[in-house]
Amino acid sequence: MKEKLKKILPPVVFLLLSAAVFAVVIWDRTPASPISLSGFKLNTVVTITIYDSKDESILKGCMELCDEYEALFSRTIPDSEISRLNAGELAESNGISPLSEPTQALLAEAFRYSELSDGAFDPTIGAVSSLWDFTGENRHAPSQEAVEAALPYVGWEQVKLTEEGILLPKGVQIDPGAIAKGFIADRIREYLLEQGVKSATINLGGNVLCVGSKPDGSPFRIGVQTPFADRSETSAILEIDNRSVVSSGIYERYFEENGIFYHHILDPKTGFPCENELCSVTIISDTSVEGDALSTACFVLGLEKGMELINSLPGIDAIFIDRDNNLHYSDGFSTAILPSDE
Ligand code: ADP
Ligand code: MG
Repeated sequence: MKEKLKKILPPVVFLLLSAAVFAVVIWDRTPASPISLSGFKLNTVVTITIYDSKDESILKGCMELCDEYEALFSRTIPDSEISRLNAGELAESNGISPLSEPTQALLAEAFRYSELSDGAFDPTIGAVSSLWDFTGENRHAPSQEAVEAALPYVGWEQVKLTEEGILLPKGVQIDPGAIAKGFIADRIREYLLEQGVKSATINLGGNVLCVGSKPDGSPFRIGVQTPFADRSETSAILEIDNRSVVSSGIYERYFEENGIFYHHILDPKTGFPCENELCSVTIISDTSVEGDALSTACFVLGLEKGMELINSLPGIDAIFIDRDNNLHYSDGFSTAILPSDE
């Protein structure tokens, strides 16, 4: 009998082992292992990760969407729709510039947040923001005179958006930079859902939109970056299910000149970087467009007024980080939060 077992055992063990290996391979082939694609787009790093499909063409479709929207909204592409609008090339004889559906929808959202934030968020900041360069080799502050000369061309109330298009006074320049990524992320989510994807993350340079949850139903974990620290250092880890996380901060794009610190979120009243007690504002919301607009708006409004705005809006959570790295949470903060790794 024993002799018999000895002979039988090795093949059984072999079978068990190979079954285990097979199981691992199968497991790896299940949609639980994500597919991902990154690219430099929208002036930042874009990464799309899909957890419940192996169809690489969907990833490519997302990247193509980024390119399509960039070709409409970019201020650095000379023949983008926004560039042509700003150059007055789209205006018809009645002065109105008709717009494509995405640009019209983007600007309708943008002006809604200008009104909501009492002008702290202002997409007509273009005449002033184009004087600044926070990304190039030759970063330096524009002169006070140049900024003052451009300021009369900033003011969302000068602009009329109608169903026929936009009436943009001469010299007024649209800069959709503070809302475009959020808008595009929402459109990419729509595309993913159309493709049957129910579990994915859309990361447009730190502007993160989660589609659904992880395939096992658990939430995605999204870190809120500690200002000025290493990119991997987080002040909080959020558990996110089908929501957007967007941060605006002074640590993203900045430079120093003659001992003065300049960052890229501008006060539409002065044309200079807004000075307040904040380092960053993170918004957790259902759509990314509201997160992008509100994070910039609240940054300009500052801790007190920004928090007041968030607390007046249902369904939106916010974390404000001040210059001493203290975290301030909005009333009724409902997003699950894991302890920081500090
Ligand atoms: P990021 O682009 O780094 O994600 P934001 O969403 O806060 O950050 O957008 C900042 C950009 O928005 C600036 O680079 C500028 O083009 C534009 N901008 C700056 N200040 C304002 C403002 N007060 N209102 C609207 N847009 C702004
Ligand atoms: Mg923004």
